[in-house]
Amino acid sequence: MTRIFYDRDADLSLIRGRKVAIVGYGSQGHAHALNLRDSGVAVKVGLRPTSKSLARARAAGLEVGPVAEVAAWADVVMVLAPDTSQPALYAEAIAPNLAAGKTLMFAHGFNIRYGTIAPRGDVDVSMVAPKGPGHRVRETYQAGDGVPALLAVHRDASGGAHALALSYAAAIGAARAGVLETTFTEETETDLFGEQAVLCGGVSALVKAGFETLVEAGYQPEVAYFECLHELKLIVDLMYRGGLGYMRYSISDTAEYGDYTAGPHVVDGHARATMKKLLADIQNGSFAQRWIQENAAGRPWFTAERARQRAHGIETVGAALRQMMPFLDPVTVDPEDGP
Ligand code: NAD
Ligand code: MG
Repeated sequence: MTRIFYDRDADLSLIRGRKVAIVGYGSQGHAHALNLRDSGVAVKVGLRPTSKSLARARAAGLEVGPVAEVAAWADVVMVLAPDTSQPALYAEAIAPNLAAGKTLMFAHGFNIRYGTIAPRGDVDVSMVAPKGPGHRVRETYQAGDGVPALLAVHRDASGGAHALALSYAAAIGAARAGVLETTFTEETETDLFGEQAVLCGGVSALVKAGFETLVEAGYQPEVAYFECLHELKLIVDLMYRGGLGYMRYSISDTAEYGDYTAGPHVVDGHARATMKKLLADIQNGSFAQRWIQENAAGRPWFTAERARQRAHGIETVGAALRQMMPFLDPVTVDPEDGP
């Protein structure tokens, strides 16, 4: 049975009685730090002295210090730097400042699951992983709502690891939406699979393939953009509110008939076999190994691929169309710049 916890199950006084270091001030870091502070928790942010986020954290009224210093000050250290920079950061600045009875926390299980961080045995290790982007974690908290989160305990040296993690989850607003109990292994493997097969890899490839099919057949790229990318949000919004059933209730019968007849041919046996292979590579560590090596080598393939993807026709057509729709609040970003 899935265990789901809400505000009424959490004791906020536990986290209010601790000093919390938030390491990193990016997408998740800023949301955790500000929500904890607004929930009455003593927070300091740990950053490198050269960090671009430093000025923003100070401007938000937070106390900022070097990672080693705030880790030494804190009872609870939440690691919200990028997953690939966590092992070195942990070894250099965090591990030397942990002591028996302290708690080390993560928002994703990658480094514990793949053994790239192996904390000492007398420290509690837990996870609160919001199931949404950091900016939503902040916005929903301010609106009185929350983003659901996964909670896991890797090591409970003190006997209080679960209760403290739940208290932390409540303080960032997640227990308003629901906190699901999981393990580091389940969170890591399902998170990686979801982003690869469905949410990021699967959807991007599906959108591009649909767009290219129409454009290659001679249809206008603008029409293809609206059909394959813009409208996706409208469809997903329906699914989000009422599942596939509400989406199908809302579309025409013709669209619903095409949904049933065509869908299984697009995502066919081959696509399902590929999904199984992706999952196997996540489970046996070979995906993690490749990504760790790519980072160790300075990300040559990743950087080149990022540039290639940005030059795709759907991006140029889309940017021009979105400019004409200011009500969408269109954005352009430099991918080398953190959020
Ligand atoms: P991010 O890239 O947005 O921000 C990283 C922050 O860490 C930046 O402030 C950066 O300046 C800082 N940083 C980088 N290297 C550092 C170092 N060596 N020392 C100190 N600070 C350093 O990262 P993120 O997307 O917020 O991810 C943080 C964690 O949260 C990851 O474990 C990620 O898997 C997890 N997570 C992220 C999301 C999300 O929505 N982005 C959702 C769920 C979980
Ligand atoms: Mg994810």
